[in-house]
Amino acid sequence: MSSSVYVPARPPRVAVVGAGLAGITCARRLSEAGCAVQLFDKSRGVGGRMATRRVEWIDTDGAVHRAAFDHGAPAFSARSAAFRAFIDEAVGDGVLRRWEPVMAPGSHANLDGLAHWVATPDMPALCRHLAAGLPLTRSCTVDELVRDRDGGWRLLSQGDMVGDGVFDAVVLAMPPAQAAVLLALHRDDWARQAWSVPMQPCWTLMGAEGGTPPPWDAAWPQRGPLAWIVRNASKPGRAAEDDGLTRWVVHATAEWSATFLESASDSVQSALQEALARELGRTPRWAHVAVHRWRYALAPRRTDAAGKPCWWDAALGLGVCGDFFTGAGVEGAWLSGRALAAAIVPATADARAPGR
Ligand SMILES: Cc1cc2nc3c(=O)[nH]c(=O)nc-3n(C[C@H](O)[C@H](O)[C@H](O)COP(=O)(O)OP(=O)(O)OC[C@H]3O[C@@H](n4cnc5c(N)ncnc54)[C@H](O)[C@@H]3O)c2cc1C
Repeated sequence: MSSSVYVPARPPRVAVVGAGLAGITCARRLSEAGCAVQLFDKSRGVGGRMATRRVEWIDTDGAVHRAAFDHGAPAFSARSAAFRAFIDEAVGDGVLRRWEPVMAPGSHANLDGLAHWVATPDMPALCRHLAAGLPLTRSCTVDELVRDRDGGWRLLSQGDMVGDGVFDAVVLAMPPAQAAVLLALHRDDWARQAWSVPMQPCWTLMGAEGGTPPPWDAAWPQRGPLAWIVRNASKPGRAAEDDGLTRWVVHATAEWSATFLESASDSVQSALQEALARELGRTPRWAHVAVHRWRYALAPRRTDAAGKPCWWDAALGLGVCGDFFTGAGVEGAWLSGRALAAAIVPATADARAPGR
């Protein structure tokens, strides 16, 4: 048997499906390790649940108003030394800043005294920064993975092949129910585990209103329907409310969202508007209001996948990462993407600084 080291004739080609923080972290590290990486996302932009909705409307006087609402993760924290190092680097790069909201009386920040971090000027900015220079196909829902006889992967979207040919490996970086669909034909055991992860939903209200703002930036009521109330402009790097309208993002609790998951959006909107009015102690004069339903917002702290930060099948060339492996939100997504890159190319675990 030859003892020579196998040197591939060309860089390994890896498709990463899902351009949230887990997928982009994995893709960036694989790319830096010499892999030819292509990212795919069904959305028009990157960031996944680190999301910002931009809207524009014209009022009855004909004035144009613009607003941006961070309607996915409002902020995040760091518990591990590795993620703290990553945050320090991203702060240095100018894409993350600390958010120190004035909390409403009786509310306390729910991050165990940890710093709250936000991307600037909007939440997807962190992923845009990390994805810079990586080939990315947007608005592309990958709905089938096809394994070639010679071991490569083809990606299909509505029956058409996407990406530049055949890939040596595929990474799925998306909520577990969505990964399960793509895994079913190839790793039924993973698909079943992914299906069984009870992701928590979140109804989110985004509204701009003209009443007197309260003397606080955020509240964490955890009563009735309300989990978080955030004045978007209180975050660093956001546009000023120079039209006199306060921009609110209101997240419902997981329990309330689950109860009303299939309700009509206008009834959910009314319920959240009323709940916010109770917290403000006045009836807002709404200039714009909308709701968004996150069917898969947050992973539970413990899942069936607990214990592993990702899945990697080297024989198949198939991997899965995402926040649901640890249930630790943004930090968990980052740790999972990083762990999968290290499983695919072990050199990525050692050869780099702890941050990116
Ligand atoms: C309302 C809300 C509040 C939150 N609050 C917090 C918080 O306070 N703190 C915290 O740390 N975290 C919070 N989170 C969770 C945090 O946003 C997520 O844990 C993290 O962003 C997940 O990253 P990810 O890369 O694993 O997945 P995602 O961000 O979901 O990325 C998956 C990507 O895959 C794409 N995709 C899915 N299926 C396909 C397909 N078939 N083809 C192509 N693309 C596909 C999606 O479009 C998406 O861009 C919150 C999330 C929400 C929604």
